[in-house]
Amino acid sequence: PAAAPLLSVRNLQAWYGESHVLHGIDFDVAPGEVVTLLGRNGAGKTTTLRSIIGILRKRTGSINFDGQETIRLPARQIARLGIGYVPEERGIFSSLSVAENLILPPIIKPGGMTQDQIFTLFPNLRERLFSQGTKLSGGEQQMLAIARILRTGANLILLDEPTEGLAPVIVEQIGHTIARLKQDGFTIVLVEQNFRFASTVADRHYVVDQGRVVDMIRNDELDANIDKLHSYLGV
Ligand code: ATP
Repeated sequence: PAAAPLLSVRNLQAWYGESHVLHGIDFDVAPGEVVTLLGRNGAGKTTTLRSIIGILRKRTGSINFDGQETIRLPARQIARLGIGYVPEERGIFSSLSVAENLILPPIIKPGGMTQDQIFTLFPNLRERLFSQGTKLSGGEQQMLAIARILRTGANLILLDEPTEGLAPVIVEQIGHTIARLKQDGFTIVLVEQNFRFASTVADRHYVVDQGRVVDMIRNDELDANIDKLHSYLGV
């Protein structure tokens, strides 16, 4: 990419206790880009996101966000720089209403979406405003999980398998949402197992295997690399 990267990860290593799981993750994300981390179960994709956001603290290497080195910062400060994380388990409060979930995460930076902008993006959420989290469908929960991050002003969004367990029609909606966020200038790192979905939204793909980035494939070169990708993903 021509622009200076918004996020630049170099030789990222990470541990769960004594267990060394990331052995040197390297990748860049340009401003406004949608990039995926693809790889088998256990390859280290989720751990990479947890390391970037700082909730996994035992990590070394370099993570530069918007010109600032963050590898030694606590999660609270990293979030304040403008990085939002939507975990695989979505992290919404099931006993609270949609409205309550939306106002819980603190505003970290100016420029976050207003409630009206959020409802334009996710009309379902307006209709479900006073429904409890538990009453929402899987797709609505995923949309709520994304919506609450958009409110905070984060401009880099880390999404961990947003399509997991969702019906094809909802997966398609999530795809439209990601395309819309890209149009609005958000930068997105997406962890995916479903590379068909990934190919509908991403500019580039980084392949993660055994705690390392082993390849980068531009989306427009995906078809030419499909056999290689299959062997990485074991499909
Ligand atoms: P998945 O799609 O299964 O989440 P992944 O590529 O995101 O795959 P990670 O979840 O990052 O993989 O896991 C990387 C490695 O770290 C795996 O070997 C996994 O078993 C291990 N691991 C993950 N979480 C923990 C944990 N809390 N404690 C110890 N080891 C863990």
